[in-house]
Amino acid sequence: MIDAHTVLTGVLGYPVRHSLSPAMHNAAFRALGLNWVYLAFEVAPDRLAQAIAGMRGLGIRGLNLTIPHKEAVIPLLDGLTDAARHIRAVNTLFWDSERLIGDNTDTEGFLRALYESGVNPAGQTVLVLGAGGAARAVVYALRQQGCTVWLANRSQERAQALADAFGCAGVLPLERDALAECAAHADGVVNCTSLGMEPHADTMPPVPVDALPASAWVCDLVYRPLQTRLLQAAAARGLKTIDGLGMLVHQGALAFERWTGSPAPVAILAQAARAQISGQ
Ligand code: NAP
Repeated sequence: MIDAHTVLTGVLGYPVRHSLSPAMHNAAFRALGLNWVYLAFEVAPDRLAQAIAGMRGLGIRGLNLTIPHKEAVIPLLDGLTDAARHIRAVNTLFWDSERLIGDNTDTEGFLRALYESGVNPAGQTVLVLGAGGAARAVVYALRQQGCTVWLANRSQERAQALADAFGCAGVLPLERDALAECAAHADGVVNCTSLGMEPHADTMPPVPVDALPASAWVCDLVYRPLQTRLLQAAAARGLKTIDGLGMLVHQGALAFERWTGSPAPVAILAQAARAQISGQ
């Protein structure tokens, strides 16, 4: 029941109506019997400063940020966590007493998703595809775990800047032949490009799946659909596969924990996200 005690949280984005976060967080609040609500706010870029001032004025307990606000919000905050400072992108706002802090839960969410699938990437050699916002969080996470990271992206310039920022082993063209040698020595592959995402689910990044060692794992951050063509090809070769649901759920769980101070009901978050993805 929404009443005078209801605690408000939400997500700011533009557009935002596709977001799975309201379904996930509201299911979690209900499951824990919390009088909290999570709403989606469509905030145009030129209204972001007003929205953050509104959060301060209204005492909104926590917010997520999605495209295009993840970097633009930084000057409006009182502090950043280490992850947000290094990635230069914020997806979660929480209060530390009176201070409004920006965090990035994608990094830890990605690692938790790997651990949950039985993968510990510490010290491994990983081929990361992509150089956008998701790739930044993934590369930072892997470098924190002492991984040797090779980066492949359509735009070489963008990949080189990311590789320089986080000390990657090298940059490769996003082409099948160019990736073969690296793939042969990789412990894992992470697709952080949008190749394979609806409405282009028939596309896939040019990973030479046959060249990967039999012990390799393949992770795809795309979650619409969950079984991308890349994951289908990896599964057909008998490789361990990790879909994008785990990272989605765990970045949300970490935000939930920041706001409520309670462990998140991860299974409930996953069930709600899965239902939304499958259109139930
Ligand atoms: P982004 O910042 O826009 O980056 C997009 C990336 O995809 C860039 O590396 C881009 O290459 C590449 N790309 C796009 N179209 C391409 C094409 N036709 N051919 C080759 N490369 C192409 O997006 P993002 O935020 O990093 O998100 C990337 C993907 O990860 C999306 O599918 C998103 O849904 C998913 N994601 C999932 C989670 C999760 O929790 N599971 C979290 C974040 C993101 P260029 O640099 O050359 O343009």
